[in-house]
Amino acid sequence: MHTLDDIKDLLQSCENEDDFARLQARALETTLQHVGPEIHFRGLIEFSNVCSRDCFYCGIRKSNKKIQRYSLSQEEIVELAKWSAQEGYGSIALQSGERCDPVFVDFVIEVLRQIKSETRSELLPDGLGITLCVGEQTKETYQRFFDAGAHRYLLRIETTSPSLFAQIHPTEQHLHTRLRSLEFLKEIGYQVGTGVMIGLPGQTYEDLARDVLFFRDIDIDMIGMGPYLSHHDTPMSRYAEENNRNRLLIFRKSLAMIAATRIVCPKINIAATTALQTIDPAGRIDGLRFGANVLMPQTTPPGFRRNYLLYEGKPGLDENALETRLNLERQIESIGRYVSKNKWGDSLRFHEKHPQSPDSPSGK
Ligand code: SAH
Repeated sequence: MHTLDDIKDLLQSCENEDDFARLQARALETTLQHVGPEIHFRGLIEFSNVCSRDCFYCGIRKSNKKIQRYSLSQEEIVELAKWSAQEGYGSIALQSGERCDPVFVDFVIEVLRQIKSETRSELLPDGLGITLCVGEQTKETYQRFFDAGAHRYLLRIETTSPSLFAQIHPTEQHLHTRLRSLEFLKEIGYQVGTGVMIGLPGQTYEDLARDVLFFRDIDIDMIGMGPYLSHHDTPMSRYAEENNRNRLLIFRKSLAMIAATRIVCPKINIAATTALQTIDPAGRIDGLRFGANVLMPQTTPPGFRRNYLLYEGKPGLDENALETRLNLERQIESIGRYVSKNKWGDSLRFHEKHPQSPDSPSGK
């Protein structure tokens, strides 16, 4: 059993070349042993940037009046989903700003239903696997989303440090609400994902080590995490200079977080996120070398991407979805891994916990 100090040591190895290389080798070995060389793609559909929250770090927070708000139509989203299925992705991730109004909730339910019914095929008898990422909702809403066909849900805790959480959110947002949401999701039967931002102002190695222990203690199924990157139209832009100055270290810390998480939770799915690629063009591939096994290539049409800027410098704004995929596949093959096709690519940890799960998917 890893202690807080063990994990802190793993993380701190990002400050020394030899230790960092050893950490990478160990994380990769653990990955290959427990989840294998396969990489799972999820077609990422950022279907709306309308948001009712005001998180201090986020570029699509409701108080940012400088961005143009958009919402894709049901037809547009379903088309992107079908495209993902044709490309062999097996799974998609639907993400948007947070809204809890009935119009939004009903819309998401309709979209889920239509995607499930229109993507069934011989290759995918249960349709596309769907990960939903639309923030904090009531248990009833989570249940309705689940019943409509979402089977994985991603809700980042952002940080498990109560003081840091309070520092980066308005007073009406609470750490305990997120924790309760994660519990609801688990009770309903979702494969549950969470994650944190790395390199927040004032965040210590001990904070990050506690985050990793938290992932283990709640027996999480999936992780999506990456560097915190400042956005100029947010209250946290006052830390922009510090954030820019430390980018290389924050990048290495993020890779160390992926590695430590893989070592502590060997059978979960871990995503190499776009934010990594923002700092270094090869960042997501580095994420895979340090223990990630999931990638979420963007399918959001280029015209909308520039309005879904959670942070500055988001890459691939003009690339089309096919180029994105081909680029990634080439890079993945160059590191001796390969991309799974027409599979949901579920968390092995989840199925280990629920071996007799009646709704264990056929296309997992
Ligand atoms: N509203 C949804 C999804 C959109 S935000 C939700 O709350 O889940 C998705 C994630 O982007 C957030 O959880 C946060 O961790 C990350 N994010 C937001 N702003 C960021 C920034 N400036 N730098 C890095 N990550 C950021």
